[in-house]
Amino acid sequence: MSQEGCGKELKPVSSQQSKRAKGADGLAVSRLQRMHSAEHILTAVMRREFGSPRNLESHLGDKKSKCDYAVSQALLQEDILAIQRAVNAEIEKDYPITAKTLTVEEAQQDYDLWKVPGNVTRIRIVTIGDLDAIPCAGEHVEHTGQIGRFHVRSHDMTKEEIVRIRFTVED
Ligand SMILES: [Zn+2]
Repeated sequence: MSQEGCGKELKPVSSQQSKRAKGADGLAVSRLQRMHSAEHILTAVMRREFGSPRNLESHLGDKKSKCDYAVSQALLQEDILAIQRAVNAEIEKDYPITAKTLTVEEAQQDYDLWKVPGNVTRIRIVTIGDLDAIPCAGEHVEHTGQIGRFHVRSHDMTKEEIVRIRFTVED
């Protein structure tokens, strides 16, 4: 499968592993899996709190990541702190992260397929508990508690109504 529903420049799972988080198979969860899973939760929080329909652009890395969202007005530092608190509150609920595969016809009834290339016939839907479900071909942790603590490193308004949030995950 080649579609990318999110995490535009998603790289292969890194060999750099976190010491703290282990999957059910006993293998360490990668930082990139943690970052990418955090991005899903951040996007869900931005949609819920600020009406940002989508993650417009993102770059995910082992050490730092950034995502752009459309907002109706410039975000203040207190907004950013509220977003950070909200993302961490969702992480702490330790939702399971699961994936299922649908046909395009099935998926387009319920999901936003805007980033999915037009030539795919099967769509992988990644669900985080009852928080979020979106098309995504990337690698994730198995439950949100493995992400660790979400930390916003900085933010700025790259355009009048686009906020760029730079973040990382901490043990
Ligand atoms: Zn994903």
